Amino acid sequence: MTFQIRLFSRWQDAPWDRHRWPNFTPSELACRCPIDSPHYCRGEFYYDPDFFDGLQVVRSRLGAPLRMNSAHRCALRNAYVGGAALSQHKLIAADLALDDHNPRELLDACKAGGFTSFGFYRTFLHIDQRIKPDGSGRRWFSSPEARKQWTQFLT
Ligand SMILES: [Zn+2]
Repeated sequence: MTFQIRLFSRWQDAPWDRHRWPNFTPSELACRCPIDSPHYCRGEFYYDPDFFDGLQVVRSRLGAPLRMNSAHRCALRNAYVGGAALSQHKLIAADLALDDHNPRELLDACKAGGFTSFGFYRTFLHIDQRIKPDGSGRRWFSSPEARKQWTQFLT
């Protein structure tokens, strides 16, 4: 049985293949709204198997844990954290904490995982699978400092 991309209002309702994606959980990919607040979502979840496959490739290549600052965000959460109105996080994207990862290895692993668009921040790397009409990915820097920090790893 195959599942298509689908939005779930609660991550608990989504199908999750723990053998296919052993190093991730749906809860860490779901919206991080406070679960007990009536004003926010109940862990909205964007089920995208291709995206999860890509994350697993990254994780397997690195052989080290990936910590996600943010993945899917419901519209309210996205606005609350100051995300762009058309942020890919309202579908699915991941902000991977740099932690102790080698930036170049992290970036290479993400490319190997099929990620095409990158946002470079001081403490994390945004990744998603968007491709522009010309076939290239998006790329941006959060600040001049982030550009300086990352430039050496971009070939
Ligand atoms: Zn939410």
